[in-house]
This record gives sequence, C-alpha cells and structure tokens, in this order.
Amino acid sequence: MATPLIIMGAGGRMGRTIATLAEEDNTYSLAALVDRADHLAQLHAGNGCLITDDLRAALAHCADAVIIDFTAPEVSLNTARQAAESGHAAVIGTTGLDEAQRAELAGLAQKTPLFWSSNMSVGINVLRKILPELTRALGDKYDIEMVELHHNRKKDSPSGTALTLGECLAEARGWNLPDVRCSARDGIIGERPKAQIGIQAIRGGDVVGVHTIYFMGPGERIEVTHQAHSRETFAQGALRAAAWLKGRAAGRLYGMQDIF
Ligand code: NAD
Repeated sequence: MATPLIIMGAGGRMGRTIATLAEEDNTYSLAALVDRADHLAQLHAGNGCLITDDLRAALAHCADAVIIDFTAPEVSLNTARQAAESGHAAVIGTTGLDEAQRAELAGLAQKTPLFWSSNMSVGINVLRKILPELTRALGDKYDIEMVELHHNRKKDSPSGTALTLGECLAEARGWNLPDVRCSARDGIIGERPKAQIGIQAIRGGDVVGVHTIYFMGPGERIEVTHQAHSRETFAQGALRAAAWLKGRAAGRLYGMQDIF
C-alpha cells in the first residue's frame, strides 16, 4: 500500500522537490500539502490532497500519514509536538536546531516515531562511516579542516551537515566538537592549536551544497569532497525515510544511520 504523506513546508525548495518526486512514485500518495497562508496559491496537487496552512487540519484529514517537514527549527519542533499529540510519524530534515531543540525532539520521539537527519543523501551518510576510519588511520599529526559552500538563501551557518561531519571527526579524535570548532579566523591569531577543527562557510549563488574535508599532514594532504548536484538526493532520502518510519515504534529519535 502507498505511504500517505503530509508535506510541511510544501512551497519551499525541499518541499516542492519532495512533493514532485512523491507524485511520480506510486509507492507514495500525497495526503496534504501544508505551508504558510501566503504560499498556498503556488501549491497544486491531485484529487484527495488537502492544501492548507493548518497542520492540525492536515493531521485530521489523514490519520495514518507520515509527515515530512523541511521548514525552520521552531516550525519543525511545533510539527513534532503536534505529531506527538496525534500519534503521527514525522521525518524532519530542518537544520539549525540548537541543543535544547534537539533534546526536545529526542523527548518527543519517546511518544511518536520521529526521524531527524541534517543530510539525507546516501553519499554524506557513507562519508559519516568512513571519515572516522580515515581520521584514525592518518593519526594525530594531520590537521583537520572543512569548508562548506551553499546558496545565498541558506539561513544557518555552518551547515547542519558540516556540524554532523565535524561531530564524527571530533569523536574519532576523542574530542567534543563545541570545544574544538573554529569557524572564524581574523587578525593576529597565533599558531593553530593541535586540538582544533576549522569549519568555514561560503555563501553564494544557487550552490546546492559542497563539503570538503582536508586532512593536512607532514608533506601531504588528502581532500575529500561531497557535492550535491541537486536537491533530489535529499528528497529521495526523505521519502525513503518516510516509508521506513511508517509502522515503527516510538522510543528514540531515528536517523539515516538506522536505515543503512
Ligand atoms: P525554504 O525556505 O525554501 O522552504 C521552507 C518552507 O517552509 C517555505 O515554503 C516556508 O513558507 C515554509 N514555512 C515556514 N514557516 C512555516 C509554517 N509556520 N508553517 C508551514 N510552512 C512554513 O527552505 P529549504 O531550502 O527548503 O530548506 C528547509 C530546511 O531544510 C532548512 O533548514 C535546510 O537547511 C534544510 N535542508 C535539509 C536537508 C537534509 O538533507 N536534511 C537538505 C536540504 C535542506
């Protein structure tokens, strides 16, 4: 049976891509498209799909739908709160959540099936597996830095993906990312401390997302780059997550590593 979906933020860059792919794939059906009232005019869907600015109405319209939410941190938390009340499952792809917001999400995942990932592409999730191995194999003589590029409308910096990759690099060194992250260098800053991971952000144009990790050691360096060519890779991951989440038990906040 097709997985019914409620797309939250359906008028946004990710929401539009997810809705388009879901419409072309008969393993999904669109139950509702939700966005702010001033964005509804641009939304179109087939018969039976509700278009609304009221998430509660969408939840009442389809009791067994999985919500997919790519919006903004406070909006996604509100989605998760409502999902916990109604018992709907929800896949959240929004980045820029602070620690308290992530903790609240984890708490709500005790009540209803919730899934969150800062990057839903296959490539980035494979990188999350191999970067710690590379870090350990190279040893601590290699300085680790990262540069990420995104389009000029991106609101958070560094990207959620850069922070997720940074966390797995720090962990492989036995560090805590907030203690060692350096995202600004200006003026007479002195020598680079050994216990540091630089993460710098570049913004411009319509870049979907590029992350390069540099391992710089004595006499050589390795660069590992992931380039997202289109938003489809994230959208396909979100759809796959929704199908995976349907029917799963609540209990903990799921992520891409649970699917792979
Ligand atoms: P966007 O600004 O194009 O879209 C956000 C949409 O949410 C807009 O249509 C906006 O109107 C809607 N929205 C805002 N408040 C709302 C509300 N109260 N109710 C209903 N709709 C509301 O942004 P985007 O580029 O689609 O990105 C959205 C989020 O997804 C960002 O945090 C981005 O970093 C993240 N993202 C994650 C991944 C991933 O793989 N996890 C990939 C790409 C983007």
